[in-house]
Amino acid sequence: MSNLVLENVDLYYNRVHALRGLSLEVNEGEIVSLLGNNGAGKTSTLSMLSGLERPRNGRVTWGDKDLTKLQPWDMVEAGLLHIPEGRRIFSTMTVHENLLIGGYLVKDQKLIAERAAHAYELMPRLAERRDQQGGTLSGGEQQMLALGRALVGGPKLLLLDEPSMGLAPLIVKQVMEIIREVNKQGTTVLLVEQNAKAALKIADRAYVLESGRVTLQGPAAELAEDPRVIEAYLGA
Ligand code: ATP
Repeated sequence: MSNLVLENVDLYYNRVHALRGLSLEVNEGEIVSLLGNNGAGKTSTLSMLSGLERPRNGRVTWGDKDLTKLQPWDMVEAGLLHIPEGRRIFSTMTVHENLLIGGYLVKDQKLIAERAAHAYELMPRLAERRDQQGGTLSGGEQQMLALGRALVGGPKLLLLDEPSMGLAPLIVKQVMEIIREVNKQGTTVLLVEQNAKAALKIADRAYVLESGRVTLQGPAAELAEDPRVIEAYLGA
């Protein structure tokens, strides 16, 4: 099993102690959500898992691989794929070109074409806009494109940073359903969200971060009922 395990991770930006002995696990097949307010350390966790930041202490393992000191390209090769906040699609390239770029490490052209076709199946909206420039898409469509591009890379674990950001509630629901479907089809998901309500609906388990450490954790359905979570993140 390829489970992701963070043990006692400390991460600093110069003197800012962003992650403080953070420990968490994402088991193969799960959707795990990280919740927390601004500055809690959610994005830092993803940056570390995509090899952009190095922990000062602690250990990160993925199955039997030690990822603690790896570089971004090693993370991608290991199957961890980060979709950063803001999506970062290529606005002057077409939807289809954006999708194909997701396969830059995949040598088999047939496999890239198959995965792109699968992304279109999952998100017919993208198929309708195949030849349209990325920059002309709505926010929700851009998020779908970012997901589709990642899927063409064949990730084992998707690291999603705030996929709901800036989207209308109905679109958030659609994006969350797509994430759930991607997970059902075999991709493990670590989902960072400010929208705790939407995240807890699709997650199996969740962690609440405060000041770089875990303060609450458990099955998503239980956390959604926890008065502390309701008060702080779901609006009483
Ligand atoms: P947000 O939703 O606002 O991104 P977050 O939970 O993702 O919040 P992080 O962005 O991981 O939180 O930030 C954790 C801490 O690290 C904060 O105190 C933040 O100010 C600090 N921090 C984050 N990035 C940097 C950086 N590049 N340089 C210095 N400090 C940083």
